[in-house]
Amino acid sequence: MDYSRRLDKLAQLIRESTKTLALTGAGVSTESGIPDFRSKEKGLWNRFDPEEVASIGALERDPAEFYRNNLKWWELCLQAQPNEAHRSLAQLERKGWLLGVITQNIDGLHQKAGSKRVWEVHGHLRTCRCMKCKKTDQMDRLKESYHCAACGGLLRPSVVLFGDSMSNDYYNAEKVMSGCQLLLVVGSSLQVYPVAGLPYMARQVVIINRQPTPWDSQARLVINQSAGLVLSDLVEILGDEKGPYYEC
Ligand code: NAD
Repeated sequence: MDYSRRLDKLAQLIRESTKTLALTGAGVSTESGIPDFRSKEKGLWNRFDPEEVASIGALERDPAEFYRNNLKWWELCLQAQPNEAHRSLAQLERKGWLLGVITQNIDGLHQKAGSKRVWEVHGHLRTCRCMKCKKTDQMDRLKESYHCAACGGLLRPSVVLFGDSMSNDYYNAEKVMSGCQLLLVVGSSLQVYPVAGLPYMARQVVIINRQPTPWDSQARLVINQSAGLVLSDLVEILGDEKGPYYEC
């Protein structure tokens, strides 16, 4: 099937669905200049194993090294601007096609693009918190010190590190997935569990990803193209039509 027929199929599936959600991964933000983890050209991550560098064990073992390794890419996330994929998802929500976005990303770009209902299952970069007294502080604090201003304890970012338990947003995402008819999986290699298990809760799954994923054989539709292109084309096809969640 060629690209335009796949796009028509995507529009048809979204029109037929009464409950559509998106699940996004690092691939939705590569067009904003943030490297993902598992593309062939891994950029920032060529030299590191993310499961080691971004782990709770690494933070506890050597905080100085942990922050040296991570602050640079967090700063990249914080400086980045939304791209066509983020804007299109926000537009789909505004027009009532999408209930919301479940994202594995910590970069906050869905909210920057205007998405209102976002479940950040791996946390975010807006704040950090003390591992001893639990007080939260602004992320900027970490540029000065990784010790808590109140008690001197070790600060950690409000992201879910490898080895952490899952966030409240993850459990809320599981709840919102109940009865999901159509899940658009955008820019995720679907290799990080438990998030990679969420597609099992949807009646139908569409994969929008540059490379194959382990889910492709079970998906209703696979589009191996860039997220920005596919989602902006989808918005164009749907035009002024309104979806089931449209609020006047
Ligand atoms: P991943 O790196 O494992 O997979 C990304 C997938 O997106 C790849 O299969 C790649 O082919 C595809 N891709 C890349 N650019 C694309 C584009 N423009 N359009 C369509 N597809 C594209 O990412 P993951 O599955 O999200 O897992 C990595 C974990 O690392 C996530 O859980 C996330 O928390 C974290 N992470 C976050 C960010 C961020 O916040 N921006 C960046 C890197 C990693």
